[in-house]
Amino acid sequence: MLGSEALVTTLLQVHELRKYFPVKKDFFGRGTAKVHAVDGVSFSIAAGETLGLVGESGCGKSTAGKTILRLIDPTSGTIEWCGRRIEALGRAAMHPVRRELQVVFQDPYSSLNPRLRARDIVAEPLRNYESLSEAQMREHVAFLFEKVGLRADQMVRYPHEFSGGQRQRLGIARALAVRPKLIICDEPVSALDVSVQAQVINLLVDLQAEFGVSYLFVAHDLAVVEHISHRVAVMYLGKIVELTDKRSLFRNPQHPYTEALLSAVPVPDPKAKRKRIILQGDVPSPVTPPPGCRFHTRCPYAEARCRAEEPAMKEVRPGHSVACHLR
Ligand code: SF4
Repeated sequence: MLGSEALVTTLLQVHELRKYFPVKKDFFGRGTAKVHAVDGVSFSIAAGETLGLVGESGCGKSTAGKTILRLIDPTSGTIEWCGRRIEALGRAAMHPVRRELQVVFQDPYSSLNPRLRARDIVAEPLRNYESLSEAQMREHVAFLFEKVGLRADQMVRYPHEFSGGQRQRLGIARALAVRPKLIICDEPVSALDVSVQAQVINLLVDLQAEFGVSYLFVAHDLAVVEHISHRVAVMYLGKIVELTDKRSLFRNPQHPYTEALLSAVPVPDPKAKRKRIILQGDVPSPVTPPPGCRFHTRCPYAEARCRAEEPAMKEVRPGHSVACHLR
């Protein structure tokens, strides 16, 4: 695991990132309401670091990942990649950036071309970015297969001939092919069985140790990010509510929402008991987020101020920031 003293080279710096989607059209086809999917999110990722981005379904974490990848355009805010602003770059200017910034999707089956053999799926990004001979290409693809734990004889198979875990290994090999600096892992293990989840997470940890790649690891479950993350950002309704290193988050959570998420994480010691916090009510609509603190409609500690005034992110301890009036 990366020590905090080694976190020196910032690869990605996201500042006040927003992504709103229009949801209704008026008579003239103009949007009259907006989904506030990502609403002022700021974080950074260092070389060799994994940042876990966690929150319930619909909190905006996957949209944040897709916006950073520029698969969708941000509404506002800045995305700095290796010191260069990329939030407004056009397709051609983004081409070299995409080599360094790869993605692994949640559903490996729908993200892999069913008509291509496994070796061609992994070779596809190489053909886009490298001028390799066919022999060099074959050699590199065989190297990647070995690195992700697939056998050489599986190279000629089609995606439907693989299990879910193997398909995700294939997706990882494809992302790794052009030696990216950062891979955005968008719920990469959510569709897999628990035992297979652990194998894929261990594989990602091993690949990070070998290649020094960074990850933005998006997940809806704190248990999933515990092993892989150096730091964790907790998102609720479009905003980051807590951001700190993994140890602080798991030992001393500061935000009531993090407390609730953490209470659902199983503890390895059967004698140790953790009181489960069941949040009341549903996540409010991101079209009309509640005023003040967005969590106030479900927070067991909410007071009058919470309903009127939005809490700012503040550092409560070095490297530990939280957005809550009580901290
Ligand atoms: Fe709860 Fe208030 Fe803190 Fe929001 S600001 S998390 S409502 S105590």
